[in-house]
Amino acid sequence: QAEPGNPYRVVLLGASGVGKTAFASIFAGAADSMDSDDCELCGDEMCEKMIEVDGEPATITLLDTWDAETDSEWAQENYMQTGDAYLLLYSITDRASFLRASELRITLRRFRPAQHTPIILVGNKCDLVRRREVSVSEGRACAAVFDCKFIETSAAMQHNVWEAFHGIVRQLRLRRDSK
Ligand code: GDP
Repeated sequence: QAEPGNPYRVVLLGASGVGKTAFASIFAGAADSMDSDDCELCGDEMCEKMIEVDGEPATITLLDTWDAETDSEWAQENYMQTGDAYLLLYSITDRASFLRASELRITLRRFRPAQHTPIILVGNKCDLVRRREVSVSEGRACAAVFDCKFIETSAAMQHNVWEAFHGIVRQLRLRRDSK
């Protein structure tokens, strides 16, 4: 049960440079937020706010604290266990970040066995068509193998970013309702 007062913790994961900070600032800037006040709970690494999804309010605490360069097992494990749901980002212009996303998905599964943690694989920077290194069908196939949803986004164009947040809330609700 996570509604007002009991926020969903959504974690941004992915290689450095894929657009996590850009996602977090769109979320923090929240054009479609229900309250227009400045977000008091927003800092560099986390932001909490209420958004409306399918006519129902949902509070999300967005965490953008992943240090892509960390190789501390402890830090990774800790991080992999803090979220209720994950947005796993790569850049469609960077194949290495796509491979990194697969590794992170495997690490997530290792730290959270048997938990149906909602995860969306997000192929960001889809505005950079000429620099594309990962095709839509590769992204979709990867998501199918890893049993998660898939979406392509452009934080630069603000395209599909809110759809990704709404998608994660829908998955969290499905999981809540099936309990
Ligand atoms: P992070 O390291 O994952 O937090 O990545 P950032 O959010 O800092 O983004 C890295 C760079 O990519 C920055 O220069 C962003 O402006 C740029 N960027 C992020 N998202 C997009 C996007 O959707 N399209 C384009 N063209 N650039 C993007």
